[in-house]
Amino acid sequence: MRASTYPLVDVDEAAALVLERTPVLPAEPVALGEAAGRVLAADLRAPHSLPAFPSSAVDGYAIRSADAGRTLQVLGESAAGRPFDAAIDAGTAARILTGGAVPEGADAVVMIEDVAVHGETVTVPGDVRAGSNFHRPGADVKAGELVLRAGAAMGAAEIGLAAALGFASLDVRRRPRVALMSTGDELVEVGKKLGDGQIHDSNRWALLAALREAGADVRNLGIAPDEPEALRRLVEEALERADAVVTSGGVSVGSHDLVKPLLESLGTVHIGRVKLKPGKPFTFATIPSPGTGAGQGAGAVRLAFGLPGFPVSSLVTFEVFVRPALRKLQGFAQLQRPTLPVRLGYDARASVERTEYQRVMLGRDQVGLVAETTGSQSSSRLLSLAGAHALVRIPAGDQGIKAGSVVEAMILSLP
Ligand code: AMP
Ligand code: MG
Repeated sequence: MRASTYPLVDVDEAAALVLERTPVLPAEPVALGEAAGRVLAADLRAPHSLPAFPSSAVDGYAIRSADAGRTLQVLGESAAGRPFDAAIDAGTAARILTGGAVPEGADAVVMIEDVAVHGETVTVPGDVRAGSNFHRPGADVKAGELVLRAGAAMGAAEIGLAAALGFASLDVRRRPRVALMSTGDELVEVGKKLGDGQIHDSNRWALLAALREAGADVRNLGIAPDEPEALRRLVEEALERADAVVTSGGVSVGSHDLVKPLLESLGTVHIGRVKLKPGKPFTFATIPSPGTGAGQGAGAVRLAFGLPGFPVSSLVTFEVFVRPALRKLQGFAQLQRPTLPVRLGYDARASVERTEYQRVMLGRDQVGLVAETTGSQSSSRLLSLAGAHALVRIPAGDQGIKAGSVVEAMILSLP
């Protein structure tokens, strides 16, 4: 074993450094039907008002409020999409249906339930206020209004809003192309039988799911052996078409740990060790893009994330470093998971020199949210993360945090 020469970087400094080096990907137009989960590349302004015309909120009669209490001549009908094309004068009304345009001259709609109809006339109540029962033009959105900001995540409501404003396509950020591989001679593909001393490659499947959930377009490159030339070939090939490469394993200081020297030879290793538990050997490098190869990579640099081999370490470092970077590549305004203050339901021991992210389940008592440990926090024990609702951050030191104290929890999923 050699001692690592990389300085131990503070976790927040390391996370900031990763984001500093991470570019925002270019924009591309997508059809509205493909926009879910994508990030708006530019502010969206309303080309017209919503509604664009005075639109009835109910079925009833469009009248002049000055005619309240009178019996009016019904001139015709305004249904949704079929406006009545004459004006309403004193003493007249038009039948109107929900979504129908309120005709010229009318300034109120009375509900069908509130009138008495006799043949071609209608008697309306005595207390009709101008402006009642219809939506004024621009009541929901005014022409020219800023409706969605660049960086907004396109969900159902945002897509509906864009459709209501007539956009058939939107400029969104390109999805990050991420090449994913595991390293290790002990690894065997799932579905295959294990030999002596072998284990199934679980990190790649966990990371594939995590990358996709974070919006990446993933190329699954399989298992690289602990052999420098084979690993180099795979990583170089991966980088040809990727904005980022994510590896697991091979970043600690054992003699088979080949990822750091490989990244050193391809680009610049910015981080080689972090004061983080689990995840101390996390490695981050940037690799210059070859020339200006059209349509290749993120532009100036490709990112390389060397995640530790222990399964919990690889997923925790994904959460702390990779996920925010993927969100920056996609132009999200919000890079971090939401956090909530929670009360610890257990005494949390601290690591002397590393910030620790402990996995917890959240419950509620009379006071609020309570975090209970998921049990042994060993970096090999995926069960500590399976079903965990949050990561709580325990600062380095010899103090620890006592049960009952309030800490910030990074929310993964609420119970
Ligand atoms: P390494 O960082 O390569 O020394 O790996 C640290 C530990 O994580 C070792 O026990 C490895 O066997 C284990 N490990 C590495 N890669 C994977 C993987 N893809 N899936 C599951 N365990 C792994
Ligand atoms: Mg290994």
